[in-house]
Amino acid sequence: MVKRNIALVAHDNKKKELVEWSKEKQALFETIGIFATGTTGRLIEAAINRPVQKLLSGPLGGDQQIGAKIAEGEIDLLIFFWDPLEPQPHDPDIKALLRIAALYNIPVACNKASADYMIHSPLLHNDYKTEAPDFTAYTERQVKQLK
Ligand code: PGA
Repeated sequence: MVKRNIALVAHDNKKKELVEWSKEKQALFETIGIFATGTTGRLIEAAINRPVQKLLSGPLGGDQQIGAKIAEGEIDLLIFFWDPLEPQPHDPDIKALLRIAALYNIPVACNKASADYMIHSPLLHNDYKTEAPDFTAYTERQVKQLK
Protein backbone atom coordinates (compact mmCIF):
# COMPACT_ATOMS: atom_id res chain seq x y z
CA MET A 1 0.00 0.00 0.00
CA VAL A 2 1.32 3.46 -0.91
CA LYS A 3 1.81 5.80 2.03
CA ARG A 4 0.68 9.35 1.36
CA ASN A 5 1.46 12.49 3.30
CA ILE A 6 -1.36 14.93 3.80
CA ALA A 7 -1.20 18.57 4.95
CA LEU A 8 -4.06 19.95 7.03
CA VAL A 9 -4.67 23.68 7.46
CA ALA A 10 -7.72 25.56 8.73
CA HIS A 11 -8.33 29.22 9.32
CA ASP A 12 -9.65 30.13 12.77
CA ASN A 13 -13.36 30.16 11.79
CA LYS A 14 -12.91 26.78 10.10
CA LYS A 15 -10.84 24.98 12.73
CA LYS A 16 -13.80 23.43 14.52
CA GLU A 17 -15.08 22.02 11.24
CA LEU A 18 -11.69 20.52 10.31
CA VAL A 19 -11.16 19.08 13.79
CA GLU A 20 -14.62 17.45 13.73
CA TRP A 21 -13.98 16.14 10.23
CA SER A 22 -10.58 14.73 11.28
CA LYS A 23 -12.16 12.95 14.24
CA GLU A 24 -14.79 11.46 11.97
CA LYS A 25 -12.12 10.25 9.52
CA GLN A 26 -9.41 9.24 11.98
CA ALA A 27 -9.58 5.56 11.07
CA LEU A 28 -8.71 6.53 7.49
CA PHE A 29 -5.71 8.53 8.75
CA GLU A 30 -4.04 5.43 10.22
CA THR A 31 -1.86 4.85 7.19
CA ILE A 32 -1.35 8.51 6.24
CA GLY A 33 1.42 10.85 7.39
CA ILE A 34 -0.07 14.07 8.73
CA PHE A 35 1.50 17.52 8.54
CA ALA A 36 -0.29 20.67 9.68
CA THR A 37 0.21 24.32 10.46
CA GLY A 38 0.90 24.93 14.16
CA THR A 39 -2.46 25.66 15.73
CA THR A 40 -4.46 23.41 13.42
CA GLY A 41 -1.97 20.61 14.11
CA ARG A 42 -2.13 21.03 17.88
CA LEU A 43 -5.95 20.84 17.87
CA ILE A 44 -6.09 17.86 15.52
CA GLU A 45 -3.39 15.97 17.40
CA ALA A 46 -5.36 16.32 20.64
CA ALA A 47 -8.60 15.31 18.93
CA ILE A 48 -7.37 12.21 17.10
CA ASN A 49 -4.71 11.06 19.53
CA ARG A 50 -2.10 10.60 16.84
CA PRO A 51 1.17 12.44 16.20
CA VAL A 52 0.95 15.27 13.71
CA GLN A 53 4.05 16.93 12.26
CA LYS A 54 3.38 20.48 13.33
CA LEU A 55 4.94 23.36 11.44
CA LEU A 56 4.86 27.03 12.37
CA SER A 57 1.51 28.72 12.75
CA GLY A 58 0.16 29.78 9.35
CA PRO A 59 0.53 33.56 9.80
CA LEU A 60 4.05 33.01 11.18
CA GLY A 61 5.28 31.13 8.11
CA GLY A 62 3.53 27.75 8.38
CA ASP A 63 1.71 28.10 5.05
CA GLN A 64 5.03 28.83 3.37
CA GLN A 65 6.62 25.81 5.05
CA ILE A 66 3.86 23.60 3.63
CA GLY A 67 4.39 25.18 0.22
CA ALA A 68 8.11 24.39 0.45
CA LYS A 69 7.34 20.78 1.38
CA ILE A 70 5.05 20.48 -1.63
CA ALA A 71 7.81 21.83 -3.88
CA GLU A 72 10.25 19.32 -2.37
CA GLY A 73 7.85 16.42 -2.98
CA GLU A 74 7.11 15.67 0.68
CA ILE A 75 3.37 16.33 0.60
CA ASP A 76 0.91 14.50 -1.63
CA LEU A 77 -2.40 16.10 -0.70
CA LEU A 78 -3.56 19.38 0.80
CA ILE A 79 -6.73 19.85 2.82
CA PHE A 80 -7.07 23.55 3.44
CA PHE A 81 -10.30 24.83 4.99
CA TRP A 82 -9.75 28.50 4.21
CA ASP A 83 -12.24 31.12 5.29
CA PRO A 84 -14.09 32.65 2.34
CA LEU A 85 -15.75 35.30 4.54
CA GLU A 86 -12.80 36.99 6.22
CA PRO A 87 -9.56 38.51 5.01
CA GLN A 88 -6.45 37.09 6.70
CA PRO A 89 -3.25 38.92 7.66
CA HIS A 90 -1.29 36.34 5.66
CA ASP A 91 -3.41 36.42 2.49
CA PRO A 92 -0.29 36.57 0.28
CA ASP A 93 1.02 33.35 1.90
CA ILE A 94 -2.33 31.63 1.32
CA LYS A 95 -2.31 32.63 -2.32
CA ALA A 96 1.28 31.39 -2.60
CA LEU A 97 0.41 28.03 -1.03
CA LEU A 98 -2.54 27.51 -3.39
CA ARG A 99 -0.36 28.52 -6.33
CA ILE A 100 2.39 26.05 -5.41
CA ALA A 101 -0.17 23.26 -4.97
CA ALA A 102 -1.60 23.99 -8.43
CA LEU A 103 1.90 24.22 -9.94
CA TYR A 104 2.99 20.84 -8.55
CA ASN A 105 -0.28 19.11 -9.46
CA ILE A 106 -1.21 18.44 -5.83
CA PRO A 107 -4.88 17.66 -5.07
CA VAL A 108 -6.41 20.37 -2.89
CA ALA A 109 -9.65 20.18 -0.89
CA CYS A 110 -11.03 23.50 0.32
CA ASN A 111 -14.07 22.32 2.27
CA LYS A 112 -15.73 19.31 3.85
CA ALA A 113 -17.33 17.96 0.68
CA SER A 114 -14.11 18.09 -1.35
CA ALA A 115 -12.17 16.61 1.60
CA ASP A 116 -14.69 13.73 1.75
CA TYR A 117 -14.21 13.02 -1.95
CA MET A 118 -10.44 13.13 -1.50
CA ILE A 119 -10.14 10.94 1.58
CA HIS A 120 -12.52 8.31 0.18
CA SER A 121 -10.87 8.21 -3.22
CA PRO A 122 -9.72 4.73 -4.26
CA LEU A 123 -6.63 6.44 -5.68
CA LEU A 124 -5.44 7.30 -2.18
CA HIS A 125 -3.99 3.87 -1.48
CA ASN A 126 -3.34 2.38 -4.86
CA ASP A 127 -0.22 3.02 -6.90
CA TYR A 128 -1.61 6.14 -8.59
CA LYS A 129 1.30 8.47 -9.10
CA THR A 130 0.68 12.20 -9.32
CA GLU A 131 2.25 13.30 -12.57
CA ALA A 132 5.21 15.51 -11.76
CA PRO A 133 5.28 18.56 -13.99
CA ASP A 134 8.28 18.98 -16.27
CA PHE A 135 9.86 22.36 -15.72
CA THR A 136 12.80 21.83 -18.07
CA ALA A 137 11.55 24.31 -20.65
CA TYR A 138 11.22 26.88 -17.89
CA THR A 139 14.48 26.23 -16.05
CA GLU A 140 16.50 26.11 -19.26
CA ARG A 141 14.87 29.11 -20.89
CA GLN A 142 17.14 31.77 -22.27
CA VAL A 143 16.72 35.07 -20.55
CA LYS A 144 17.16 37.69 -23.26
CA GLN A 145 19.02 40.33 -21.25
CA LEU A 146 21.61 37.78 -20.03
CA LYS A 147 22.48 36.30 -23.43
P1 PGA B 1 -2.71 27.84 12.19
O1 PGA B 1 -2.49 28.40 10.75
O2 PGA B 1 -3.09 26.41 12.03
O3 PGA B 1 -1.38 27.97 12.88
O4 PGA B 1 -3.77 28.66 12.81
C1 PGA B 1 -3.50 28.27 9.79
C2 PGA B 1 -3.52 29.45 8.87
O5 PGA B 1 -4.17 30.44 9.22
O6 PGA B 1 -2.88 29.43 7.82
